[in-house]
Amino acid sequence: MDMKGKLVLIIGPSGVGKSVIFKSLKKKHPEFHFPRSATTRLRRQGETDAIYHFVNDQEFEKIRAEGAFLECAKIHNGAWYGTLLKEILPAIEDGKTVVREVDVQGFESIRNHQKFSGHSAPYKLQSIFILPENREQLIGRITHRAPISDDELKRRIKSMDSEMTYAKLCDVQILNKEGRLEESIRSVEKAILK
Ligand code: 5GP
Repeated sequence: MDMKGKLVLIIGPSGVGKSVIFKSLKKKHPEFHFPRSATTRLRRQGETDAIYHFVNDQEFEKIRAEGAFLECAKIHNGAWYGTLLKEILPAIEDGKTVVREVDVQGFESIRNHQKFSGHSAPYKLQSIFILPENREQLIGRITHRAPISDDELKRRIKSMDSEMTYAKLCDVQILNKEGRLEESIRSVEKAILK
């Protein structure tokens, strides 16, 4: 019998609420493993090293050159993010459910990675896409977060539309209805524990 765990990726367009869902899973499921990724983005107020391995560009490059990333990508905020093999594979070997939030580029790389892709892949991947109720809900959240220019809004909408095309490639799609966060969290838990 295969006693290995699996890697669960939480994916979705920005503003859909995946971070809140992710944080709630972290609180409710200490038995899951939540690996730290490396990032070059600046630390936000109150953030500790438990959230990310915060590094500068040179350090990030060094980790990349050592081949220590499962994948890495530059995201829309201009910072680099990379999932660390050593934070993920030993935990899966140990039978753990490993849960990580990544952007669509990260999802694309991991789902095509030889360690997770195809029938003979050594590790199991489960991808969960968080869907917004509708496009307007997302656009509303983008504009409510902080004032942005029309050009920036156009760019964000374009990127959101392109992120949405990944939904059909995921194993599970969960609709995050307005005001029904608990329901969405329960659906994600159910999918993971199935
Ligand atoms: P934040 O900087 O707000 O914590 O994360 C911004 C976004 O970066 C997340 O929503 C997620 O999509 C993406 N992200 C976080 N960690 C990784 C990672 O290791 N790899 C990739 N490709 N994206 C990540």
